[in-house]
Amino acid sequence: MKAVYLDHAATTPMRDEVIEAMMPYFKEKFGNASSVYSFGREARKALDEARQATAGIINADFNEIIFTGGGSEANNLAIKGAAWEYRHKGKHLITSSIEHHAVLHPMQQLEKEGFEVTYLPVDDQGLVSVEEFANALRGDTILVSIMHANNEIGVIQPIAQIGAICKERGILFHTDAVQTAGLLDIDVKKLNVDMLTMSAHKLYGPKGVGALYVRKGVRLVPLIQGGGHENRRRAGTENVPGIVGMAKALELAAAEREVVTPRIQKLRDRLLEGILNIPHTRLNGSRTERLPNNINVSIEFIEGESLLLNLDLKGIAASSGSACTSGSLDPSHVLLAIGLSHEVAHGSLRLTLGRDNTDADVDYVLETLPPIVERLREMSPLFSS
Ligand SMILES: *Cc1c(COP(=O)(O)O)cnc(C)c1O
Repeated sequence: MKAVYLDHAATTPMRDEVIEAMMPYFKEKFGNASSVYSFGREARKALDEARQATAGIINADFNEIIFTGGGSEANNLAIKGAAWEYRHKGKHLITSSIEHHAVLHPMQQLEKEGFEVTYLPVDDQGLVSVEEFANALRGDTILVSIMHANNEIGVIQPIAQIGAICKERGILFHTDAVQTAGLLDIDVKKLNVDMLTMSAHKLYGPKGVGALYVRKGVRLVPLIQGGGHENRRRAGTENVPGIVGMAKALELAAAEREVVTPRIQKLRDRLLEGILNIPHTRLNGSRTERLPNNINVSIEFIEGESLLLNLDLKGIAASSGSACTSGSLDPSHVLLAIGLSHEVAHGSLRLTLGRDNTDADVDYVLETLPPIVERLREMSPLFSS
């Protein structure tokens, strides 16, 4: 059976070049980067090169990169680390209502500790209003965290504008760039951010590795204490193979972006157009301010989970409006935030393309999906065509 993977927002396959780059650090170059003998020096050198490469790609400096155990940890470190460090300056934080749970849950934890959090709404296109954001700022606002692009609807926020306002007011600004790193050009200076989160497994690197950019001069209370690793901001023997893999994946992405991203976008556009030809479907989130690989559509009168199972039977891997919280029947907080009803949110489908998808994949989905939708609708008591 054909296998078509269309869930690159959930994770990506590792590239062969990445695996090859990592392999020596599992085997003969297994040393602890803190050891003084040759095995250790070898690991240290690899770590230094990976840090330099990662920094260079996002226009940062060597000492501004903290490697973590993934995107979730980097978000936690940025938010809790900065809030705890600067709590004497104020207790107000701002975020959006459509953040990943790795931002929302730390924010909720901080509320329990006495911080006040403003959750900015988004409009029906999924966009935060810069004006509304500016109005939410207070004298005691110490930290703002707004994601670069949303993992469900792919909407890209006006980060540079929000960052410019934060800069003017001397307020720290963090962005979760897990969905954009690799796909878009990331320049921390142009984006006006003080902190930025990336995750390797969303860009064809290994799982369990991430990085937090922290602008020079910004201090953080560490979440993990122990040795003096990562400039005393994240203890623990470094995951040398993982970090080497992340840097390699970022380098490959940067080198190929100009060719790969337009190719993915072209495939996405054709797939989207075909899906929207099915009656009673609509795109969720802005058409223009959108990741080049993301499709999120509501298909009325069907149930997302049944659709996913039927697509899976045909070898198509996709995601629906409640994928990240599997086991929960609550529709996605993102789809509700852009104004969808519970029913419509339950009938949504997310397809996220990647560098290995082909025209044949798009053809296959466009042949396979419409008959499944038709069949599910015939079974639905809500539908009469
Ligand atoms: C996947 C994802 C994360 C979490 O990253 P992990 O490396 O899986 O912990 C955080 N934010 C966004 C937007 C994501 O898509």
